[in-house]
Amino acid sequence: MARTFDYDLFVIGAGSGGVRAARIAAMAGAKVGIAEEHRVGGTCVIRGCVPKKFMVYASEFSQSFKMAEGYGWSKSGATFDWARFLEAKDIEIARLSGVYVTNLQNAGADLAHARAELHDPHTVKLDDRDFAYSAEKVLIATGARPSVPAGIPGIELAITSNEAFHLPNLPESILIVGGGYIAVEFAGIFNGLGVKTTLMYRGANILRGFDNDVRAHLTTEIERRGITVILGCEHLSLEKTPTGIKSCLASGHDVETEVVMYATGRDPYTAGLGLETAGVAINQKGAVVVDAYSKTNVGNIWAVGDVTDRINLTPVAIREGAAFAETEFRGRPTSFDHEAVASAVFSQPPIGAVGLSEADARHKYGKVDIYRQVFRPMKATFYGGEERMLMKLVVDAASERIVGCHIVGADAPEMIQMAAIAIKMGVTKSQWDETCAVHPTAAEELVTMREKYVPPELAMNG
Ligand SMILES: Cc1cc2nc3c(=O)[nH]c(=O)nc-3n(C[C@H](O)[C@H](O)[C@H](O)COP(=O)(O)OP(=O)(O)OC[C@H]3O[C@@H](n4cnc5c(N)ncnc54)[C@H](O)[C@@H]3O)c2cc1C
Repeated sequence: MARTFDYDLFVIGAGSGGVRAARIAAMAGAKVGIAEEHRVGGTCVIRGCVPKKFMVYASEFSQSFKMAEGYGWSKSGATFDWARFLEAKDIEIARLSGVYVTNLQNAGADLAHARAELHDPHTVKLDDRDFAYSAEKVLIATGARPSVPAGIPGIELAITSNEAFHLPNLPESILIVGGGYIAVEFAGIFNGLGVKTTLMYRGANILRGFDNDVRAHLTTEIERRGITVILGCEHLSLEKTPTGIKSCLASGHDVETEVVMYATGRDPYTAGLGLETAGVAINQKGAVVVDAYSKTNVGNIWAVGDVTDRINLTPVAIREGAAFAETEFRGRPTSFDHEAVASAVFSQPPIGAVGLSEADARHKYGKVDIYRQVFRPMKATFYGGEERMLMKLVVDAASERIVGCHIVGADAPEMIQMAAIAIKMGVTKSQWDETCAVHPTAAEELVTMREKYVPPELAMNG
């Protein structure tokens, strides 16, 4: 006789991936349970993309005020109220989290505000109940957590992005450690809000994995805006002082700041989940190992989103969750294609990128053609700003397909969404160039780059 279960699907984690999967499965008629140990919405809504973007918006006004004078406005004398901003931000985050709860309820899923743990592949125990639920299928969607390196004396004095959203006061100064997008974004936020900001990274250049021109260009631009960038340097120790934290650096210098923030990476959140008991395989980083359909090595367990450490972005977690639910509950086998996923860095100025960097494209295709423009955007020339925009296309010389597009400058994240459609469709450079420019915009540069770019070092060699 077939075994009966309390649930057709139990989802652990009500973040981007879990909520999407739960809703689709429930709307397809499945009996769905979902557990969330913190707040519904997950990292993106509560302590990631959304509050971060509000902070970016808040911090960008200082640059706008500067530009405004060049456009004829008088000095505004505007001041920023951190407490008022935090209150408004928290109200909006609570509203959004509430929308997620309503959507789950409207879909017919049972939501439990509790921590869940697997006792065996079909049994989920919630920490607030003394009984366990049985589920035919289980989806692990528990996300990731900030990771801070162990072994640095005083490291417990440092905050992570989780705490940066709730600082009791806006500090006078901050040292941000890390070179990834979260470090760079928070450096822009604090700098824009008037905090003396230092960004320190142990590598030779920030934003590993991005195109090298983008990395170099952004470093110049954020330094131009007043951020001190220290590269190739690490912490030896952190010490509390009466006014803040003294950072002893490997370079032999000390830096004293009111706050130190670590943004040195995130680890899949698999600890204490019962994966070992249930027999679910994880890799060396602790990420759940899955196939193209997000299925684990255990036949009735799937995993999506950051906990699988594929591409750790909200829309990817959502698409993985949707693909799982389409496959398992709507009878439409669907796997999410991780190729050419566009992404943005909300640094100041921001970045939009899709496809391969020049280096990766050379590695993959051998011969590539580069089209590249660095220019002062119209808005800056008028007010006397020195900032520059970068636009770069990477083309596979053999097929003439555009395989990478990289933009640094105002509105880059908005532009890249459109570019991504064409690139995903396999557009060639000549098809791209058939598109007539929109004038006057910065984006028109994208479709008017006709001359191949030859890097100076290659030009010199003939
Ligand atoms: C500061 C920051 C900025 C970011 N900015 C962007 C951005 O601009 N764009 C972008 O695309 N991505 C961004 N991201 C990444 C994005 O937030 C994640 O990729 C996305 O949230 C992953 O979704 P998920 O469903 O895998 O996990 P999450 O959204 O993290 O959800 C997992 C949920 O599971 C819950 N949970 C964990 N364990 C248990 C358990 N045992 N029982 C019950 N509940 C549990 C957690 O509390 C959490 O709510 C950012 C991340 C951070 C930290």
